[in-house]
Amino acid sequence: MPSEFPDFRLGSVLATSFTGTLSERQGISVERIPTPQRLVDWLEVSGLAVDSCTAAQLELAWKLRESIHAAASAAAVDDVLPQSAVRVINDFSSHGRASALLTLAGTRRWRLGATSGVEDALGVIAADAISIIAGERDGKLALCASPTCRAAFFDTSQSRTRKWCDMNTCGNRQKKARFNASQRTSAGPTQP
Ligand SMILES: [Zn+2]
Repeated sequence: MPSEFPDFRLGSVLATSFTGTLSERQGISVERIPTPQRLVDWLEVSGLAVDSCTAAQLELAWKLRESIHAAASAAAVDDVLPQSAVRVINDFSSHGRASALLTLAGTRRWRLGATSGVEDALGVIAADAISIIAGERDGKLALCASPTCRAAFFDTSQSRTRKWCDMNTCGNRQKKARFNASQRTSAGPTQP
């Protein structure tokens, strides 16, 4: 049953939605795709529906995810890209055999190969990661300001000053923490 697993946090950018399936990496981490079926569910809501997924394919997904996380985090702070992560991203991108199709509604959808759906889906995600890390898209990679998160996210705001990977979780938590701190100060020991 889906409710026994943590919810997905879906953003508008495929590659960073994918890296967001593991959150709170610097705190008590939350794995949002802990089973092959949860990866199938995530791929479906992300427009990359596959028929099935094996435990080995889930391992591949985690490997790609952590490589994208490493490369995107380095790119966010203008650091040298980690060689091993770049190699993994390129491997996945070149092994995927998905085709982009244009629908009559003017949108893009992905057609995955018949036999290796998960690998093809991962190839699409790897290519998406390449396009944001290479700076081809309108936006800027940044690291979440939450100390327990530090996720790399893609800031498409006009001012490029977004601070949190996700307003509803990290952003809200920081706001609450600030609010509580200010309540404590105003109710300090000097008060009558
Ligand atoms: Zn965050």
